[in-house]
Amino acid sequence: MEGRELTRLHLIMRMIVMKILRGTLAAVSAAAMLGLAACSAYSDAPASGAPASSGGTARLAVAVAFYPFEFVAERVGGDQVAVTNLTAPGVEPHDLELTPQQVASLSSVDLVVYQSGFQPAVDTAVAQAKPRASVDTASFLPLLAASQDGAEGDGHTADDGHNHGAADPHTWLDPTNMVTIAEHVRDALSSARPEAAKAFAANTEALVADLTTLDTTLKTDLGSCAIKPFITSHAAFGYLANRYGLTQVGINGVEPDVEPSAARIAEVQKIAKDNNVTTIFFETLVSPVVAQSIAGDLGLKTDVLDPLEGITAESRGTDYLEVMRANGASLKTANQCS
Ligand SMILES: [Zn+2]
Repeated sequence: MEGRELTRLHLIMRMIVMKILRGTLAAVSAAAMLGLAACSAYSDAPASGAPASSGGTARLAVAVAFYPFEFVAERVGGDQVAVTNLTAPGVEPHDLELTPQQVASLSSVDLVVYQSGFQPAVDTAVAQAKPRASVDTASFLPLLAASQDGAEGDGHTADDGHNHGAADPHTWLDPTNMVTIAEHVRDALSSARPEAAKAFAANTEALVADLTTLDTTLKTDLGSCAIKPFITSHAAFGYLANRYGLTQVGINGVEPDVEPSAARIAEVQKIAKDNNVTTIFFETLVSPVVAQSIAGDLGLKTDVLDPLEGITAESRGTDYLEVMRANGASLKTANQCS
């Protein structure tokens, strides 16, 4: 090819690239505008820019990845914040996909609260949208290994659907982790709005008191149990088991939608028989079919343990504290605790 032809080719290529770039920019800003419009349309809380009830300042816009972080952000932020949950009620957060509007909206929020390594779509969105501040709970909470989902010596193999070696993401099911999350959210909000730091500190103190009371209740409920293992469809309760001295046996592992193998079902049934287990637990957001079939074969009861991945009309309580208390009461009955 001659030099002149090369130059022409180069120019054409440049024009094409410029055109694509312009198109992308236009699409991105359109998406951002749509995102802002969508936020104010579907949120019943005042969107960013609306005046807070105390003082005349706008509320801080806080985006959270899923329900437990919404609970913390609302309690700590009070009337200084407008919280948007990226996981709609009733949606399983493990499978979360974000719309381009949701991704774009993150670039205009004051704070994002999420847990890296749990929802890949959120991790990507935070990296892309570059929010003003973020709290990543995985950066300061000690993560348990996902392999703790099975009982000791249950002998399952690497290809049985369990996530061996991966971290268990369900940190929020230990109330003491929620205390740590609240303190980080308090600090981030105080940096974003120093003049409200006293209010954030007082709100956090009240929340920590509630979480400490919950922790005491669960310790009392689960402190002395005749049966230590509990069997659950979705192995979300490793942190709860760890905190209160029980042993979780997960039928499915940490991902809720994996079908257990016949070999795994046989293992779980053996664990149930060997330990006089009374109840097979399933969760609210995922089909109870597997738990019910295992329980039915053994003549066991079924009951709900709620991993707090969302609050719906079927939840046994209206917030984190109430549903955690219901979880404690269910385990207390099933595991014959005194
Ligand atoms: Zn889960």
